[in-house]
Amino acid sequence: MKRILYIPFDHLHRNFGALKEADPKNDVIAFVESARMTTGRNWHKERLFFLISSARHFAQSLEEEGFTVEYIKAATTIGGLDAIKKKHKGLPITSAEPSSFRQYEALEKYGVSFVPNDFFLTPRPLFHQWASEQKSYLMENFYRKQRTRLNILMEGKDPVGGSWNFDKENRLPPPKKYEGPAYLEHKRDAIDLEVAEEVGHTPTTTWATTRKGALAQMRNFFDNHFAEFGPLEDAMTTDNWALHHSLLSPYLNNNLLHPAEVIHAAVKAFNTGTVPIESAEGFIRQLIGWREYVNGMYWFLGPDYRENNQLQASIKLLPLFTDPSKTQMNCMKQTVTDINDRAWVHHIPRLMLLSNLALITGTNPQQFLDWMREVFIDASEWVMVPNVIGMGVHADGGQMMTKPYAAGGAYISRMSNFCKPCVYDPKLRVGETACPFTTLYWDFLDRHKEAFAKNHRMSQQVFGLKRLSDLPELKERAQEVLEGLEQGKI
Ligand code: SF4
Repeated sequence: MKRILYIPFDHLHRNFGALKEADPKNDVIAFVESARMTTGRNWHKERLFFLISSARHFAQSLEEEGFTVEYIKAATTIGGLDAIKKKHKGLPITSAEPSSFRQYEALEKYGVSFVPNDFFLTPRPLFHQWASEQKSYLMENFYRKQRTRLNILMEGKDPVGGSWNFDKENRLPPPKKYEGPAYLEHKRDAIDLEVAEEVGHTPTTTWATTRKGALAQMRNFFDNHFAEFGPLEDAMTTDNWALHHSLLSPYLNNNLLHPAEVIHAAVKAFNTGTVPIESAEGFIRQLIGWREYVNGMYWFLGPDYRENNQLQASIKLLPLFTDPSKTQMNCMKQTVTDINDRAWVHHIPRLMLLSNLALITGTNPQQFLDWMREVFIDASEWVMVPNVIGMGVHADGGQMMTKPYAAGGAYISRMSNFCKPCVYDPKLRVGETACPFTTLYWDFLDRHKEAFAKNHRMSQQVFGLKRLSDLPELKERAQEVLEGLEQGKI
C-alpha cells in the first residue's frame, strides 16, 4: 500500500476528488465518523441518518470493488486519522480539498496533502479570479459568464430563447388543490436500519442513501417534473410539499451525484424538445449559477465572513423555529412542521419565510445560521454561510446582495395558500389580527431607513413609509408582535 485516501462524508463520488485515480492495490480508504459530527450539535436526526448511511453505503461499495476500507468512529476526525495511520504505518494521507475552512485548517495542520476539490464546475482559483475583478459580486454577471464558459443553453454568443433568464414566467402562485405526480419513495436496507437505530430515528422514505437511489431520484425529476419545474418554482402550498422541485440538493452536496452529471441530464432532456426554456433555464441557473457562485463566495469572502452582523441584530432565536406549536402564524407553523418531518423545504420558504422573519425581527444572524445548518438535510457550511449571512438576513451590509429580501404578508399571500386559514390577515399592518410579516416589514424599514435611503434599490420602499399615516400605531404593534413572538404566543 502506498497511500491513505481520506474521504470526508461529502466527497462520496468514485470518479472525483481523491478517489479519481485510486487503485485497490495502492490505496487504503479512510472514513471517520467523528463524535463531533454526530453528537457535537443538535442536528436534525433525518440529516444525520442521511449523511451517515450514505457514507456507510459508499464505503461498502468501495470494499466490494476490492479496496481496503477503514471506517472508524472516533472523537474527532484527526483522532480517527491518527488511529488509521498507526495501523498503516508510514503511509501518507491524501484528501481532496475539504469543503469548509475549519476542516481545511485541521487537515492541513495534521499534514494531509490535498488534491484539488473538483466537486464543483468552477475551480476555486477561477472563481477567485472572477471575483477579484468585480466591483460588485453580481450573481447574474457570474451566471452569464458560466453559461458562455461551459457552453450551456447557448446559440453561439447568445442565450437560447433570446434571454438570459425567464423569471417573469416562473412566478406562478400554486394551483388550487394541486396533487402532482406521486413522490418517489426509497426503501430502507440493513445499513439504513442499523444507522437509524444508532441515531435513534425512524427515517422517512424521502431520501436515498445510495448512488443508485440518487440516480433514481434524478431520473424521476427529469421524467416527471422538469417540464413543470420553472413556472411553479416559487409557489408554496400545503397540498404538495415538493411541487416540482428536484430534491437533488442533498445528493449534490454529499456528492452521491456530481453537478456535471445533473447538468448533462438536464441539457439532454431539454434537447428532446419537451421541456420549456423557462423550466430548463431556471433549473440550470440554480446549478451552474447559484450553487457555484455561493461556493465561490464562501471561499472568496473568508472565514470571518460568517461573523458579520452589520444590522446589529440581537434578538435571540425565536421559539417557533424549534417548536411550531409556539406560533399561530400558519405559514411558519406549516413550514417548521415540514422541516421537522423531513429536514427540507424549498428555496422560497427558506428565503421568504424563515430568513425574512429572522431579518425583519432582527434575529441574531449567527444563531439563525446555526439553526439553519442543523435542520436542513443539504445544509453544508459553504452553502449556508453565504446564503444566510449574505442573502437571507443581509448581515454583510450588502457585500453579496444589493438589497435585503424583506417582504410583508402580501408576497406570502400571493405565492401560497397559507393565509386563508390563518388567524392573521396579510393586508393588515396594525391591530390584533395584523399579519406579523406585514407589521414587522414596515417596522424593519423604519428602523433602518437612514441606511437604506442611501441604497437606490431600497429608496422606493423607504419612501413608502412616508405614506403610512399610522406609523406610530404600527411601531407599537411591532413591539407587541416581537414580544409575542419571543414568548411563543403570536
Ligand atoms: Fe403568514 Fe401572515 Fe399569511 Fe398568516 S397572514 S399565513 S402570518 S403571511
